Amino acid sequence: MVHLLGVPFDANSSFLRGAALAPARIRETLHSGSSNWFTEMGVDLAAGGWADGGDVALPPAPGDLPALTTTVEGILERGDRVLALGGDHSVTYPLVRAHARYFPSLTILHLDAHPDLYDSLDGNRFSHACPFARIMEDGLAARLVQVGIRTLNSQQRDQAERFGVEIIDMRDWSRGRRPDVSGPFYLSLDLDALDPAYAPGVSHHEPGGLTTREVIDLLHTLPGPLLGADLVEFNPVRDAAGITAAVAAKLVKEILGRMIKEAS
Ligand code: MN
Ligand code: MN
Repeated sequence: MVHLLGVPFDANSSFLRGAALAPARIRETLHSGSSNWFTEMGVDLAAGGWADGGDVALPPAPGDLPALTTTVEGILERGDRVLALGGDHSVTYPLVRAHARYFPSLTILHLDAHPDLYDSLDGNRFSHACPFARIMEDGLAARLVQVGIRTLNSQQRDQAERFGVEIIDMRDWSRGRRPDVSGPFYLSLDLDALDPAYAPGVSHHEPGGLTTREVIDLLHTLPGPLLGADLVEFNPVRDAAGITAAVAAKLVKEILGRMIKEAS
């Protein structure tokens, strides 16, 4: 069973709030009737295999989110899997902390315009700009593979080197390229990995990103299995005509379908 888990939390955002509204907006789009329940891979989401676990209740203050780790550990303990809907990207640290307990030597595939490797941002070590620094410091992942990156500065380049992060910079990207991820992985999908032309509803517009199709192709072709996933940083306040909500809902469908197929 795959659990869709809402994490309506954006208090660790550094620039704009609004990502906390994402889970409700994604659910609304999923259930809007604008599309059928089949994924492109032929999985009928109306036939079960997943459950909407509702939202995790979290205190709306900046900082770590141990309650999220506990909730997800409870689900993984039963042998079920989690697709979490953020929220800002800070939710990934507590999510990965839970997954690392059940899946040691985790490989993380991280799609993002930003490496999110700052030691601290604006005095907040749990900022949405820092989750992968915390993850690597704690030894929660054996490999961190980043795709879509186009905002490296010298501090984050140093951090990437320190942690041995494998980065496919957007400058070196070409359609059809595949990151070297051949086994089980956890997916952390920051919607700003996509070009803002495809996904304008994000807090940080960073032009020159991936197309929706390129992200779907990655979801379809990496061998996996996909152990767990989060989709973060959708900010409905910045969306235009529901375009980003539709992209988020589509990606949720393809991720869910894949996880259901692999679990059965
Ligand atoms: Mn991010
Ligand atoms: Mn980002």
